[in-house]
Amino acid sequence: MTDLTNLTISDALKGLDAKDFTAVELTQAHIDAGEAAKGLNAYITETPELAIEQAKASDARRAAGKAGALDGIPLAIKDLFCTDGVQTTAASHILEGFVPQYESTVTANLFADGAVMLGKANLDEFAMGSANTTSYFGNVINPWTREDGKDLVPGGSSGGSAAAVAARIAMGATGTDTGGSIRQPAAFCGISGIKPTYGRCSRWGTVAFASSLDQAGTFARSVEDNALLLQSMSGFDPKDSTSADIAVPDFAGALTGDVKGLRVGIPKEYKVEGMPAEIEKLWEDGIAMLKDAGAQIVDISLPHTKYALPTYYIIAPAECSSNLARYDGVRFGQRVEGEDLNEMYSKTRAEGFGDEVKRRIMIGTYALSAGYYDAYYIKAQKVRRLIAQDFDKAYEQCDVILTPTAPSAAFAIGENEGDPIKMYLNDVFTVPASLAGLPGMSIPTGLDANGLPLGMQILGKAWDEETVFRTAFALEKAANFTALPQSIVRQAA
Ligand code: GLN
Repeated sequence: MTDLTNLTISDALKGLDAKDFTAVELTQAHIDAGEAAKGLNAYITETPELAIEQAKASDARRAAGKAGALDGIPLAIKDLFCTDGVQTTAASHILEGFVPQYESTVTANLFADGAVMLGKANLDEFAMGSANTTSYFGNVINPWTREDGKDLVPGGSSGGSAAAVAARIAMGATGTDTGGSIRQPAAFCGISGIKPTYGRCSRWGTVAFASSLDQAGTFARSVEDNALLLQSMSGFDPKDSTSADIAVPDFAGALTGDVKGLRVGIPKEYKVEGMPAEIEKLWEDGIAMLKDAGAQIVDISLPHTKYALPTYYIIAPAECSSNLARYDGVRFGQRVEGEDLNEMYSKTRAEGFGDEVKRRIMIGTYALSAGYYDAYYIKAQKVRRLIAQDFDKAYEQCDVILTPTAPSAAFAIGENEGDPIKMYLNDVFTVPASLAGLPGMSIPTGLDANGLPLGMQILGKAWDEETVFRTAFALEKAANFTALPQSIVRQAA
């Protein structure tokens, strides 16, 4: 039988329809592969029994001619999405043992289309990080390796989701992206991922980090598979006042491969000082590929780009400090007793949160405190508006924007540790679009000198994921990225 773990979702759906294999077989193959790849630590909670149960129900639906759009497809769910009856931790000690009695809208949508859940994927604690090294449940290891043999980070915060899809232990995965947490791990793991427009997916039932930025999205090994997953997850939800009542277009229908006449903007401000030559070359190659496919390249300017990181690192911690105030030992997860209520609060929070989360709460509380609110938070909101206006202006000249996804390939665990600023710099290309609420996708287009994957980022206009998908599909075809993580190559040999 074909290797069921190396199929794309679209091929697996065809195979299921043709009765080449069953959903139970497809799911079991992924459970077995997951067992063999336990060392990656991609999951916090595995749910094999539930997965098989869902797969059996899926086979029955298909036999009855009632299969949904994703029926029988085994997925990893980032452990930030609340799942009814299944522990949801946000990778934090403070939520250890928390079992929601409700289902997030995004996962409910996927399950309504027949998707199967393999488990809850590891992430940075409360989605704060760029390397998946802040999880209470341990680091995630990137399935790609370089010659020095050091364990590499998968990127963050959705590191478990990206590693699982790259390692062929899930066919696709959900992620969330607040400042790059889908796009950067997708790039580090050699797969594709999209963060749609803010408001495209409901945030209901997703553990909040920074509410004005958080947006759910997808990981998969092809552009088409991302389109299928996003189609299922998207849509208006009356339970989330920031979800938009805008029709969801047919994303897969946008994959025409035709980019003739498409105007691709190249922002000069993203040519940051000290950009590694490999990343510059990757960018040039990407430009050439789209040009060859008939696109028109235009130089654009996003003049406030240099303020994006400092703006993000005021707004995101400010919102996080407010959102995380609810973890007080009373309502959710862990509690450490104290002499009185205040001591119980502070002991619970001191023990429950990790260092990075505490750092952000402190920065956020400071930025929101009387006297500093105007100087930092209000100022950051004003700059955010300017950054969004930059994009509005640029999109008068172009239809999409092409940039590298991250300033480097995956680095070794511990390499950027102890220097939070260096870690924050990883988000330099992803954060501006997050501040503006715009859709962005990363697709793998090349390898660095160490044989590690590098990704290109395609940004679109608000509500125009179709053009992002169309461009990504053309770039995917031209780049023909077929490299596999070394662990997979070894297994196949
Ligand atoms: N790396 C960024 C941060 O730590 C983005 C995280 C995210 O998108 N969730 O805030």
